[in-house]
Amino acid sequence: MEGKECGNGVQKVGMRAMDAEELREHGHRMVDFISDYYKEIESYPVRSQVQPGYLRNLIPDSAPDMPESFESILEDIRHKIIPGVTHWQSPKYFAYYPSNSSTAGFLGEMLSAGFNIVGFSWVTSPAATELEVIVLDWLAKVLKLPEQFLSTGKGGGVIQGTASEAMLVALLAARDKALRRVGQNLLENLVVYGSDQTHSALIKACKIAGINPMNCRLLQATFMTNYALSPEVASESISNDIAAGLLPIFLCATVGTTSSTAVDPLAALGRLAKANDMWFHIDAAYAGSACICPEYRHYIDGVEEADSFNMNPHKWLLTNFDCSTLWVKDSSNLIQSLSTNPEFLRNKASEEDLVVDYKDWQIPLGRRFRSLKLWMVLRMYGVANLQNHIRTHINLAKHFEELIATDTRFEIIVPRVFALVCFALKPMPNGQDDASKLNLKLLEAVNNSGAMFLTHTVLSGRFVLRFVVGAPLTEERHVNTAWKVLQDHANLILGTV
Ligand code: PLP
Repeated sequence: MEGKECGNGVQKVGMRAMDAEELREHGHRMVDFISDYYKEIESYPVRSQVQPGYLRNLIPDSAPDMPESFESILEDIRHKIIPGVTHWQSPKYFAYYPSNSSTAGFLGEMLSAGFNIVGFSWVTSPAATELEVIVLDWLAKVLKLPEQFLSTGKGGGVIQGTASEAMLVALLAARDKALRRVGQNLLENLVVYGSDQTHSALIKACKIAGINPMNCRLLQATFMTNYALSPEVASESISNDIAAGLLPIFLCATVGTTSSTAVDPLAALGRLAKANDMWFHIDAAYAGSACICPEYRHYIDGVEEADSFNMNPHKWLLTNFDCSTLWVKDSSNLIQSLSTNPEFLRNKASEEDLVVDYKDWQIPLGRRFRSLKLWMVLRMYGVANLQNHIRTHINLAKHFEELIATDTRFEIIVPRVFALVCFALKPMPNGQDDASKLNLKLLEAVNNSGAMFLTHTVLSGRFVLRFVVGAPLTEERHVNTAWKVLQDHANLILGTV
């Protein structure tokens, strides 16, 4: 910035948008600011306590004509933005599923922002494409995925922004593969299957892909199967649809459902899909990370039946958002659905078919250099530390489960599988509130206290509290404190204190 400050933090016009020395100075200050944020993170209320619209009165209603100083912007971040931030990296964050950050992930993001390339085709930055191919092979090997998912054959991996995008591109590939077989005019007849525990991303993908909403089967999964999709239920539904003249094309199984970490029986569902010429997609957005540990790898046994497999290193593998890794056995299916080749993108390497052009494996054209951060995470921690990261969280979740067992007023709702504990406060025999009301009260009370953040779900009509250990800074003392906060608020609500 060449402008000089002239009072009120306002600077004179005259600037270079990128100035290496200014970047150095402000970059160091920003890193200091973020490091301080992490040091102080425990002091903030975990879930933001602001009311809707809070920022309207704090920020001018139009952009400044004249440049403002970096210092005045940092001040606004401290006083106006941070109060409206929910601290996903707080060690007292136990909500939804985690969204991990780490030093390596952060530095990788920084480097990606620094290069700021747009790697849609190989030629636009060969390193971006080639590193992604290699790092996705690395991670596939860590997960012990079948060889067909590696780039050495017809398959390979790609980084999508989210599991929702991964599901959508898999569904588009499945849809088009089926329509090429049966004729383009049969879109109305295509049927897609998941369970009522499958993430809502499946319904969204069906809407976008033009699947008739009546043909999106969310089959009931019950307590009897720990909320996993029963192959018998799926088989019956598929047979009924075939008998009715419909065309089953896509079956989505989940490893670690969002509500309760249910694991669908992959091998049986995969065989069923194959027997009916359907695409088999596995959504392991959250729990896929745990499968890097030999003792949890069996949860993806049956992945050899899949056409596509997805997990989110940005959830639980220390890779800053966004990084959702998708592997396919035959990339030509994605490419046939998503490829376009306008004149202005033509180049020698692509035409000679020597390279991967990731624009043909995803929805947008533009794409960031996201493999840098995954590469840095794998290199700076090594698989051994990443496995320990997962084990630490699972052990802390076990510890929380044991704490719950010490207080008969609470109950575990479904058996814990990974680092999510589903539990509830039992209503008092002659209490005023039913179980749902009581647990909603408890949830709101602890979240309003700012001392921790957790969220809920509904299973078989029951309101259930979800406690997920997954923030990288969480230690046993945070879990113990969270339990104490829950007990204290339960005392108040039940009137036992
Ligand atoms: N699938 C599962 C099992 C999830 O738990 C989630 C989110 O928590 C998603 C998909 C959607 O993830 P994304 O935000 O990456 O689309």
